[in-house]
Amino acid sequence: MKNKDILIVLIIILVVGLFFTFKPPENEAQKAIKQQTLTAEQQKEYQDQIQKEKENLNNARNSSHFNDDKNIGNFFIKDRSYKETILTNSKNPNFTISKMGSILGPSEIKDFIRKNSNNPAIYSAKTKSFRANLHIHTLASDGSMSQLLLLNKAAALAQATGDTIYIAITDHNTTEGAKKVVQILQANPEKYKNVKVMLGIEVFSEYSGPNTYGPLGIHVLCWGIDPFDPELNTIFHKKDPTDKWNYSHRSFENAIKLLTQKGIVGIAHPARYLEKQNVKTSYQEYYNTLFDTYLSLIIQDTGFIEGYYQSYSGRPEFKNLTQEQFVDILKLINRTATSKNIIKTGSYDSHGLSIISR
Ligand SMILES: [Zn+2]
Ligand SMILES: [Zn+2]
Repeated sequence: MKNKDILIVLIIILVVGLFFTFKPPENEAQKAIKQQTLTAEQQKEYQDQIQKEKENLNNARNSSHFNDDKNIGNFFIKDRSYKETILTNSKNPNFTISKMGSILGPSEIKDFIRKNSNNPAIYSAKTKSFRANLHIHTLASDGSMSQLLLLNKAAALAQATGDTIYIAITDHNTTEGAKKVVQILQANPEKYKNVKVMLGIEVFSEYSGPNTYGPLGIHVLCWGIDPFDPELNTIFHKKDPTDKWNYSHRSFENAIKLLTQKGIVGIAHPARYLEKQNVKTSYQEYYNTLFDTYLSLIIQDTGFIEGYYQSYSGRPEFKNLTQEQFVDILKLINRTATSKNIIKTGSYDSHGLSIISR
């Protein structure tokens, strides 16, 4: 070989070497997702957490005499085209529809929420009827659970209750957690056969209406999204998952208009961010206008609201209200929603290491 050839070979080796050495830096979401691979020590802690979830359930039940064992029924509506879209957009040739039995599509989600609209017990771990938490955060936003731990905890609760457990993954302004849920279910569908998952998102929006002085924060839930949807991924693309509010559809109206095309849209914790100094009129008028705006924009056939939200306590916006005043506001909200045929759903809005607490 001539010197020139040796030089060329060396340059090729150098270029190839550099290519494999300098990978683009991982973003926080990718790192978080990687944490699903556990060390032996983490594995132990992880098993402890699953055991703990069963204990949490027993403690919750023992903390109340409430006992309501209404049969929640079974729903067999197939949301096949929804699942096919997920498969197509995931671009993963190994994913199959037969491994998506745990994922609920929009029809089944609506059906489930409707059938339980007058059954708050299903959303309370204090009752033997507890089966559902439709608002949960993971490491993909500001939650503490990996998506794998979330699913395993739900499976642990299914085992403890002897029934199907319904959960929704609703990370703030990102679909990364929901994507990971699809992957985990594809890898092990049998393990989660008693868990039903709604793939979702919780979007931060700001509402400025005729009854408000400034914008009020309204969180919008959307269940039954395709987490691989290109448009959602463009809008809710974040480099830093701890930045919860960074995206481009911030007005309430824009958020609803977008999300109603992507899944089943509902208003989260309707009494949160309710600071009297920002509301010009009575609460009654404020909620009337807010709900009417919401109903005028959705393309689904009914509205949904977190009327059975269970994590209001300790919120700073309620520090000036007595317990009685606060309960009155909740009643007013639920009454107003009912008068407009808006259906109540419920959750713990979990951010910690349990599905049955905040
Ligand atoms: Zn929220
Ligand atoms: Zn939330």
